[in-house]
Amino acid sequence: MKQTKIILNEKDMPRQWYNVLPDLPEPLAPPLDPETKQPIAPEKLAAIFPMSLIEQEMSDKRWVDIPEPLLEIYTLYRPSPLVRAWRLEQAIGSKAKIYYKDESVSPAGSHKPNTAVAQAYYNKMEGVKRLSTETGAGQWGTALSFACKMFDMDCTVYMVRCSYDQKPYRGIIIRTYGAEVFPSPSDRTKVGRQVLEKDPQSGGSLGLAISEAVEDAASNADTKYALGSVLNHVILHQTITGLEVKKQLEMIQEQPDVLVGCVGGGSNFGGLVMPYVPDKLEGKNIRFVAAEPQACPTLTKGHFIYDYGDMARQTPLIKMYTLGHGYFPPPIHSGGLRYHGEAPIVSHVAKHGLVEARAYFQNEIFDAARLFMQTEGFLPAPETAHAIKATIDVAREAEPGQVIVFLYSGHGLLDLSSYDAYLQGRLKDQAFSEEEIRQCLAECPTI
Ligand SMILES: *Cc1c(COP(=O)(O)O)cnc(C)c1O
Repeated sequence: MKQTKIILNEKDMPRQWYNVLPDLPEPLAPPLDPETKQPIAPEKLAAIFPMSLIEQEMSDKRWVDIPEPLLEIYTLYRPSPLVRAWRLEQAIGSKAKIYYKDESVSPAGSHKPNTAVAQAYYNKMEGVKRLSTETGAGQWGTALSFACKMFDMDCTVYMVRCSYDQKPYRGIIIRTYGAEVFPSPSDRTKVGRQVLEKDPQSGGSLGLAISEAVEDAASNADTKYALGSVLNHVILHQTITGLEVKKQLEMIQEQPDVLVGCVGGGSNFGGLVMPYVPDKLEGKNIRFVAAEPQACPTLTKGHFIYDYGDMARQTPLIKMYTLGHGYFPPPIHSGGLRYHGEAPIVSHVAKHGLVEARAYFQNEIFDAARLFMQTEGFLPAPETAHAIKATIDVAREAEPGQVIVFLYSGHGLLDLSSYDAYLQGRLKDQAFSEEEIRQCLAECPTI
């Protein structure tokens, strides 16, 4: 019988995360205070983040121990399997070997709990009683409400109004975990009330929901804020996936030639590839391929500059590939990939030429998702479908015997209305407007 799943024992699960910061070709540009334009003082972040996570954000320690209580939560779903996609290979006539790292097996159905449980744990250790956050499509809100329950904490989720109305099931899961979820704009915050006053029917935006969650944390002493992607400590926690892949490939005496992931804020891609950055810098021939939507082409069309993380210009300025904080992507079905920026760490390695980025239209990624489902059986999230499409393209060009690994970031069982639109031919292949991106980039601060 051919081996399909490469499974690590619990006792072989990595005990440390890998921090790429000390191994980067040059130091990461620091986040700047939006008022003074000087590197931000850690104390300024302490109103919304716990000190231990602020330290991780700036740490130069290469290996960070994963605390024991956290390892115990991880074992609910980790180590996750590495799976050989034999039938997909056959269907596309691939001479390359295709593996996928299956992060859909977590309680939330995506890679996001890897950082959610870590963030809940460190907040709990510092006496925080409640976490506030935003969610777009609902995956991050699901992950954080699960994580808070594991550590007996309260959780408040501000969910973008139009998703809240369109995707009621995510809200139901969040409430079943015991968290509270409010459509954003809400009347619970100053910024929410301001928007509602002007437009009671506002559908909201991710930038606005971030502003509400941050205000909630900053104005309540027992509450802090949690972000599900972009930040250095999020990528640190996500490296557990890449570290497991390393061990799993060693078990079968393979080396990766290509690593593939979809990129929204960059956390699942970053978690997979960062543990391989030292190998690549030492001259090993490993390609990192990032897949993004044509409708939000941050890496392929964005600029590497300082920009705000949110629409309301409340966050520190971060140096990253961005389309401009005012960029509002068309309403594509991959909610998790509609962020105007990109993680500073991922942006940095991309700027140094270590990442190949590819942008895809909606219909082609759903074609790839369907082929995956019809061969491998599982229904991928639309975000994950970008990684599948890129993998298929790479496999078709690959040399015989090459090893391709992609990160299967989540299942699509709560995205069925998107599949319905695809099957009925209602999906539009929207790309970006060059003119709109030019205007949004022109509004970014010049530093
Ligand atoms: C959130 C999400 C993404 C995109 O976020 P990254 O931070 O870029 O990883 C991709 N896939 C799934 C399933 C998600 O939930």
